Amino acid sequence: MTANKRVSTRAKAVGAGVAALALIGTAAAGASPLASNGNGKGYGKGGQQPRNVILLIGDGMGDSEITSTRNYQVGANGRLNLDTLPSTGAYTTYALQKGTNVPDYVTDSAASGTGWATGTKTYNGAISVDTNGKPLPTILERAKAAGYNTGDVSTAEIQDATPAVLGSHVTSRDCKGPSATTAKCPSNAIENGGAGSISEQLMMTRPDVLLGGGKKYLDERVVAGKYAGQTVLDQGRAQGYQVATTAAEMQAAPLGKPLLGAFAPGNLDLEWTGPTPTRTGTPAQRCAVNAKRNPAQPHLSQMTRVALDRLNSLSRDGKGAKGRGGADKKGFFLQVEGASIDKQNHAANPCGQIGENVEFDKAVGLALNYQKQNPNTLVIVTGDHGHTSQIVPTGSTTAGYTATLTTADNAPMTISYATSDVLTGQEHTGTQIRVAAGGPQAGRVSGVTNQTDLFTTMSLALGL
Ligand SMILES: [Zn+2]
Repeated sequence: MTANKRVSTRAKAVGAGVAALALIGTAAAGASPLASNGNGKGYGKGGQQPRNVILLIGDGMGDSEITSTRNYQVGANGRLNLDTLPSTGAYTTYALQKGTNVPDYVTDSAASGTGWATGTKTYNGAISVDTNGKPLPTILERAKAAGYNTGDVSTAEIQDATPAVLGSHVTSRDCKGPSATTAKCPSNAIENGGAGSISEQLMMTRPDVLLGGGKKYLDERVVAGKYAGQTVLDQGRAQGYQVATTAAEMQAAPLGKPLLGAFAPGNLDLEWTGPTPTRTGTPAQRCAVNAKRNPAQPHLSQMTRVALDRLNSLSRDGKGAKGRGGADKKGFFLQVEGASIDKQNHAANPCGQIGENVEFDKAVGLALNYQKQNPNTLVIVTGDHGHTSQIVPTGSTTAGYTATLTTADNAPMTISYATSDVLTGQEHTGTQIRVAAGGPQAGRVSGVTNQTDLFTTMSLALGL
């Protein structure tokens, strides 16, 4: 009794301090999208049929990444938007060795994405093909065929593994544009009778909203077939896309045509910068906003808001995928990826990683706010694989590289990167991953499931 009382008093004190610090942090990083999600209010009842599914993927966002982001941004006793989802489970993420059913315990984003996109396990590097290279229909393709409106949003190149698995099928994740496909995926190359590179296939699949980086691949020329000699971007326009290359163009794009956003040659710029870890650590410090970020690029939360607005309008006015005659009243499927949580883990950049995770959490807040207005929406938040960063005792010397940050609690937090002896060559890990959901049928993520079960959860939710 006494012990409990002491703990709860202390928790309150920490919580009050955190609230003040969190406000400061929010102001520095931009307007808070939605601080008001709480206690599951507004979530639909468990058994209803959802109309919409929003899947938010923090690439490389395991429990360690969620915890360090929480500590840094809102304090140990604070709660992120992604913490408020009422149903939580864990899923296994393992891949398969190529051509076999033998587990490869540490997955990459291509095999893991293929797992929830198609319901089938595959080998590392595979983009929605099975372990023998055979194409598999994806959740987005199936949703679109059934009349749903669809969206695919990432801070990475749109050809990067996680956005690519929804709308393309190649034997290697490296086949982002026509030139790489000729060299590395000859069976997929269009001159050999294949469906073409990831870029070309995404244009053909044509989600209603496709936003991210990777413009350099869209500027490559198609080498054979109907669009030979044209750029992939030209092909996209011929497929009906309007193209935005800045945040302003994205915001101003009219609803009449599907929207392709290509906001950077490669991945989008990082939100934050900070100390580089060393073998002996760093002084404790706060992260800084990345002053070198191109201000014409949209933030993930801005892309998410535009995607939700557009998909919501399409599915309400009957002008969506099948509904030119007004008959289409289907909802939508949207995937949103915070890609550089992973990429900055690889680079051993704690502020880069946490800044991306904070921005990702803003996108989660927008999805939850949409759900409050539209309770027949299933929102799922998860990662795709474990990663390298670990919270270790401050002052300890690890086998890897450490840096110390000052958190919202005004306390030091030391993060270690030790899955490779090369500073910027850190590796994924094979741990299970948190999967959380709210809304109708959210309970399906509870317990321990397999990553491929998420495909079934989303398919059942959309009645596919
Ligand atoms: Zn990775």
